[in-house]
Amino acid sequence: MNKLKNKVAVITGANSGIGLATAKLYLQEGAKVVLSGRRQEALDAIVKDLSGDFITVLADVSKPEDNVNLIKEATNKFGKIDILFLNAGIAPPTPTNEITESHYNEIFDINVKGPILAVKEALPHINDGGSILFTNSIVHQKGFDGLGVYSASKGALRAYSRVLTSEVKSRGIRVNSIAPGPIDTPIYGKMGLPEDVVEDMGKGFAQQVPLGRFGKSEEVANTALFLASDEASYINGIEIEVDGGLSQV
Ligand code: NAP
Repeated sequence: MNKLKNKVAVITGANSGIGLATAKLYLQEGAKVVLSGRRQEALDAIVKDLSGDFITVLADVSKPEDNVNLIKEATNKFGKIDILFLNAGIAPPTPTNEITESHYNEIFDINVKGPILAVKEALPHINDGGSILFTNSIVHQKGFDGLGVYSASKGALRAYSRVLTSEVKSRGIRVNSIAPGPIDTPIYGKMGLPEDVVEDMGKGFAQQVPLGRFGKSEEVANTALFLASDEASYINGIEIEVDGGLSQV
């Protein structure tokens, strides 16, 4: 119960899915948690289900000034940061012949620019020996039709995380990524697709997964706990697939 006792964790996209499950687990494990999200009503709605030492901060990761404010609020409240979990992301699908500049910009602003700028703001405040985590995806290892820009964004983030691993080595900060496969979260309802299409897509994904099912947010949160904890003290620069084996077959 005390794997993260007195550690300060900042989590983006913490009002939903993987981020929320991780925030709850980190709190259970004794961490002080800053939960950030881009919608105040969504942050307000989760507060009643949380217990422990936490604050919520409204921040749209695609806006540089919001990343500045997020880190300011986090450090005003808790001082230094031990764990930075860059988890916020979107995955709207569009086949290549329908891609628009705004589709590209929206995905890259949120999935790539946001985490990179948040890291830049946070770095001076992260304790030596701290941990930076990214929620990536297996989509940059395997091709899924319609997810070209999303997959490119996650591939870009993976490339960035390798460079960051080296850039922070003198401070003993570990940088790791989690690559979920299909996980049952609200993200599928936010793709702008009709419900039956989402359902068929889900069935298709599940059939391809060796374990034959979607994963749960809690299964990803367990990995986020492991990677942030001292149990992973010699694990650095990697990406762990939490995908029921999908990326390997
Ligand atoms: P989710 O439940 O939709 O959670 C995503 C979170 O990111 C939400 O809190 C969302 O806020 C937030 N977010 C999106 N854009 C943001 C922005 N501009 N600023 C701040 N917050 C923003 O979906 P999830 O599945 O847990 O996704 C978490 C991460 O896992 C994402 O990076 C996603 O790409 C990755 N992933 C998910 C799966 C999967 O199958 N679920 C698979 C591979 C990778 P709103 O509630 O306002 O949208």
